[in-house]
Amino acid sequence: MTRILHRSIGPTLPHAASAQGVYITDTAGHRYLDASGGAAVTSVGHAHPEVLAAMRAQIDNLCYAHTSFFTTDAAEALAEKLVNLAPEGLNYVYLVSGGSEAVEAALKMARQYFVEIGAPQRRHIIARRQSYHGNTIGALATGGNAMRRKQFQPILPETHHVSPCYAYREKGADESPEAYAIRLADELEAKILELGPEEVMAFVAEPVVGATLGAVASVADYFKRVRAICDKYGVLLILDEVMCGMGRTGTVFACEQDNVIPDIVTIAKGLGGGYQPIGAVMLSGKIYDSFANGSGLFQHGHTYIGHPVAAATANKVVEIIARPETLANVNAMGARLQNGLEAVLGASPYVGDIRGRGLFRGIELVADRDTKAPFDPSRKIHAKIKRHAMARGLISYPMGGTIDGIHGDHILLAPPYIIEADDVDLIIERIADAINAAI
Ligand code: PLP
Repeated sequence: MTRILHRSIGPTLPHAASAQGVYITDTAGHRYLDASGGAAVTSVGHAHPEVLAAMRAQIDNLCYAHTSFFTTDAAEALAEKLVNLAPEGLNYVYLVSGGSEAVEAALKMARQYFVEIGAPQRRHIIARRQSYHGNTIGALATGGNAMRRKQFQPILPETHHVSPCYAYREKGADESPEAYAIRLADELEAKILELGPEEVMAFVAEPVVGATLGAVASVADYFKRVRAICDKYGVLLILDEVMCGMGRTGTVFACEQDNVIPDIVTIAKGLGGGYQPIGAVMLSGKIYDSFANGSGLFQHGHTYIGHPVAAATANKVVEIIARPETLANVNAMGARLQNGLEAVLGASPYVGDIRGRGLFRGIELVADRDTKAPFDPSRKIHAKIKRHAMARGLISYPMGGTIDGIHGDHILLAPPYIIEADDVDLIIERIADAINAAI
């Protein structure tokens, strides 16, 4: 009998006992290929010796010092490293313990920025439908995942949503990617004008949509146009790279591939690589300066921000991620995964789209390929695939249920960046088997 309130009450979960590289072993001796890095968390693989050594060294020296009394070498070094890797202008780092916390802090930073510069009327948050920004109240309100929001709707603060950039379903058949990007940017502009340009605080988006859509990148120039609209109306652009950042898409920051620089970016998951709970918010100099020259503090903080063991761990994880050979492997193995999935599943009547960047890939399942009609949600195809995949020794991240009436089941694949070709091929074989068994 368990005393834990698990995510799902009922099914008995195997007990994870150990992990190495891209494999997790349970107490019954079953080995699972970690094809989704949990939930796109495991970046540099399990039990990486360099990360373990960095953790041990920090633990031996200092496990905790409250950030109102001390800074630490570990936190300072991590911040320095992140700034050196980030797009120009993201010059400061605020360390937190995870993704939702990063999003909450980012929203409060945006709000405080406008208070500091004498524009306290700026308060509206615009995000996108079919997005996920975390489970805490503010982050959940920001996310546009109807299913996750539903029962909490009455207690969520007001936020506003525009269309995602979701070409597979929402770009017109005769519409060019450029025209689609313009249409979406126009929609954002119309929403800003509707709310009152002087009252809008921030636009929030994931560069590559993860949990809600399954590795959906935007069309070329979408973010360039979004940036221009934000600049036109003085709205801050917050990019949420909690899932798609830290090397997952083949560049350290996902937004590098969209040629856009946000005012604020959130990162987590791959940053700690599963070794420690850690997230971060990176902010531009103008936001930092507004605090420094204004009230002199950021009116926010949790007990564990800047945790030295988490920071020392992430410092090593980021060092490994940023190595050219790591990112080269993400790109090479990502291409192998995409090509292999297309070869094996591309002709399936139930596979509508195979997409993504780097080692961040999504498969969208449909009941009818021509009409793109999703499966009836009551069939719970995604849950069945998860079970069949686990029975075949594969950890994948299927999500589903009709969201906003148009989206069905998808599978997210996000293996560790150190994966080798044989294991990529095994992912393709096992996921194809699991899909066939579930449908
Ligand atoms: N933002 C994005 C884009 C995410 O994908 C997630 C988690 O999946 C979060 C925020 C929340 O992160 P966490 O689960 O670490 O709180």
